[in-house]
Amino acid sequence: MPLRKPLVAGNWKMHGDLDFIAGFAAAFRVAHLVDAVDVLLLPPACYIQALSARLDGLGVAVGAQNVYWQSSGAVTGEIAPPMVRELGARWVLVGHSERRALFGETDAQVADKLAAALAADLRPILCVGETLAEREAGSAEAVVARQLDVVLRRVGPDGLRQATIAYEPVWAIGTGLTASPEQAQSIHAHLRSRLVTALGGSAHEVRVLYGGSVTPDNARALFAQQDIDGVLVGGASLAAERLLRIVEAASSPAGD
Ligand code: PEP
Repeated sequence: MPLRKPLVAGNWKMHGDLDFIAGFAAAFRVAHLVDAVDVLLLPPACYIQALSARLDGLGVAVGAQNVYWQSSGAVTGEIAPPMVRELGARWVLVGHSERRALFGETDAQVADKLAAALAADLRPILCVGETLAEREAGSAEAVVARQLDVVLRRVGPDGLRQATIAYEPVWAIGTGLTASPEQAQSIHAHLRSRLVTALGGSAHEVRVLYGGSVTPDNARALFAQQDIDGVLVGGASLAAERLLRIVEAASSPAGD
């Protein structure tokens, strides 16, 4: 029995439509696994309500991929945390590397978003991870530590305790390059030790997920690592049958 219940989260990014959602929900026969594994789907925000309705009673949570840090205001095109909550979201990603790279989100903005998510009773998943250049420069640990520390300073230990962390090496996202289980474990162990320093005994409540080209073929080896408590899946979450196999791997990492 793992210390923390595994979490499998599927990030659909900017994919899907109402037909896709209907087909996915019909094929995603996961109900027998949700006692052992928390399962979360993150569709585009405009489909949160439709997906929540389709999944009603299945034990699968729905979340948003992003929110703004104010709860309302003259901020054209942005969506506030209470708005996605009203549609059925219970979780939200903050600081995904695509948001950091494509939209210039800073560590401070990510921390503001995480604080706003908590204030709206959403469970934030804080994405951290180094670029290839940062890894090659030997600074992977320092980068994820900085990204974590900015959030810790903003929300304090009580806030951080309510978050989930997702380690997503930027060079492994959508590239087909997965960090080896050992590479991932090494950063996860570093994150866990920082969590222990920041939170003391309650650090064990915080899950640290791995993300970056996770597939049904590599999931089991990742779950076998001591400090990997779940996965954040992009591409492979767009096929119900593939995501189901990843949830199965989470439910029995040793393959039994
Ligand atoms: C992601 O978007 O968070 C992700 C990990 O994507 P992929 O699985 O496609 O690499």
